Amino acid sequence: MKKIFELDNLSKEFDGQVVLKGIHLDVYENEFMTLLGPSGCGKTTTLRIMAGFEEPSEGKVLFDGIDIAGVPPYKREVNTVFQKYALFPNMNVYDNIAFGLKIKKTAAPVIKEKVTRMLELVNLAGYEERNIRQLSGGQQQRVAIARALVNEPKVLLLDEPLGALDLKLRKTMQIELKSIQKEVGITFVYVTHDQEEALTMSDTIVVMNDGIIQQIGSPTDIYNEPENRFVAQFIGESNIIEGTFVKDFLVAFDNVEFECVDKGFEDGQDVDIVLRPEDIKILPSGEGRISGVVTSIIFKGVHYEIIVKTDIREYKIHTTAYYEPGLEVDLDLTPDDIHVMEPMGTY
Ligand code: ATP
Repeated sequence: MKKIFELDNLSKEFDGQVVLKGIHLDVYENEFMTLLGPSGCGKTTTLRIMAGFEEPSEGKVLFDGIDIAGVPPYKREVNTVFQKYALFPNMNVYDNIAFGLKIKKTAAPVIKEKVTRMLELVNLAGYEERNIRQLSGGQQQRVAIARALVNEPKVLLLDEPLGALDLKLRKTMQIELKSIQKEVGITFVYVTHDQEEALTMSDTIVVMNDGIIQQIGSPTDIYNEPENRFVAQFIGESNIIEGTFVKDFLVAFDNVEFECVDKGFEDGQDVDIVLRPEDIKILPSGEGRISGVVTSIIFKGVHYEIIVKTDIREYKIHTTAYYEPGLEVDLDLTPDDIHVMEPMGTY
């Protein structure tokens, strides 16, 4: 795969406040990459540096292997879609999408062909003459995406483009955006603070916090093998437990030794252990290695969220079966359910 963007040791300071701290990131052709993290972690700043709206305080941005420091946004082979659609309200849908091509003095028949294709791509065929004000939020955002894609950028940068839409429309648009990206084969770099959105759409997720990349990986890597407590907590709900790495493939917590699939930590070192709520098995009392009592059960739509209290802690568990509060149960885990990480404070 060909590398298209390379961010090399990027740092950014605003008025003495360091908001990016040594970002290294490679973006590949045809990749759907998502920058994910809490508000203020530096996602937008990273995107704006890629777009050319900001210059880094330190470090380099390479595009196709060439340093693009100082190249203004309109000369970069990238386009940006913002949360606020920034469409021209006085123009119809066709003219909004055609705008960039007209500026480039593209021939009218070519413009017509390209705009028509884009309208089909974003599911708005037949909307050419519509005024922007007559469109819903979702339709406006589709026009914004079509307007960016019609210029055939090598990379499309999207900054929380679905942020203003309601939940149902967001979900539909997530699927549509992913299929548009596949169809056009353009690299997408997508910014969101919504972990579910990132997991649904991305080939690669970059988890950021406080100006630092915490982990880069596929959605399944990030979900199943979080590298640290921040990632584990940010991506889905987790039980995070302090334990001991006994030796390769064996950890201990809550006075029990469990086989695991992890290796390579120091024998006897402190570790954090992530247990996903859907991975913990509830068994009849006497049949598992951890004993406790069900203290609460809440229906969450597709599963129940159950709290089981042991002598040492509370475990949060997701299950489709109902357990009466007060019931004594046992819990157990298979090696695959246990994810070992460096303890907090060491990353
Ligand atoms: P959000 O999801 O809220 O947009 P983010 O992760 O995209 O957050 P950034 O917008 O990159 O975060 O901001 C990172 C930090 O940099 C924040 O503390 C923000 O206040 C600060 N910041 C961003 N742009 C500027 C600016 N032009 N001048 C001063 N500070 C800025």
